Amino acid sequence: MRLDRTRFGPAGFPIDAGRDEAFRYLNSIGLDGMEYQAVRRVPTNEKVLRSIKEEAERYDVLLTVHAPYAINLAAETEEKRKASIMRIVAAAEAAHKMGALHVTFHPGYYLKRSPEGALRIAIDSLREVIREMKSRGLNHIELGPETTGKPNQLGSLEEVITMAEELDNVLPTVDFAHIHVREKEGRIRCKEDYRRIVEIIERRLGSADGLVIHFTEVEATSKGYGERRHHELGSGYGPNFEPLAEVMVELGVKWFVVSESPILERDSIKMRDMYRRKLSKM
Ligand SMILES: [Zn+2]
Repeated sequence: MRLDRTRFGPAGFPIDAGRDEAFRYLNSIGLDGMEYQAVRRVPTNEKVLRSIKEEAERYDVLLTVHAPYAINLAAETEEKRKASIMRIVAAAEAAHKMGALHVTFHPGYYLKRSPEGALRIAIDSLREVIREMKSRGLNHIELGPETTGKPNQLGSLEEVITMAEELDNVLPTVDFAHIHVREKEGRIRCKEDYRRIVEIIERRLGSADGLVIHFTEVEATSKGYGERRHHELGSGYGPNFEPLAEVMVELGVKWFVVSESPILERDSIKMRDMYRRKLSKM
């Protein structure tokens, strides 16, 4: 997505303000984005969507949408696969009406399929999503398959990059917490680990600019991999945001950084301040 600057904001409405006040509040604390969580149901009320659009524009809050969790683009039954396709299309429709330009979604599960087989089917399903979006005049909305946090979920970095390589208007939503815990070997421990991830994206997709990223510290399950629970910044679980802020500044990328911390926008402020400190030292 084309971004005018790096922006920060919470995954969902802020915890320290009422919904009616959300965008004014975010603006007042110096945040400039929000990922709308349509994770259980996609909003369809025209009046509500219009007022979200107006308020977000008024207070310069960039919006993206997180599509429902109940999506499996590689589902075993045709019925479930089609329903997944239509949930993403519905999320894109809502995104359009609220003035958002990027829809994040979890691509699905391998279930009994091989990872390669699931990826092929998911890419074919995404082609159908894109065709349906085109017919509804929604092809200006970017699709963001997210890097997922559990090893049984389709959505390794490699897989979401392949989706973006093969399809137009697809750019992964990069969840660093998920990359951190998806596999035992995936831990992000230092700046070089971040740099390696961003450079893979740059090399394969031509640029790492304009990404939507998800960030929180995260605890793995007792098995040592797979997402268990999100934690606040500074909890010690990692990954640490600071080296990522450094990489962002050094590479000069503009990203929308979505806080998925349990304290949402309060940690957005911390991330923004760390980023600004790095910027001022350049
Ligand atoms: Zn995420």
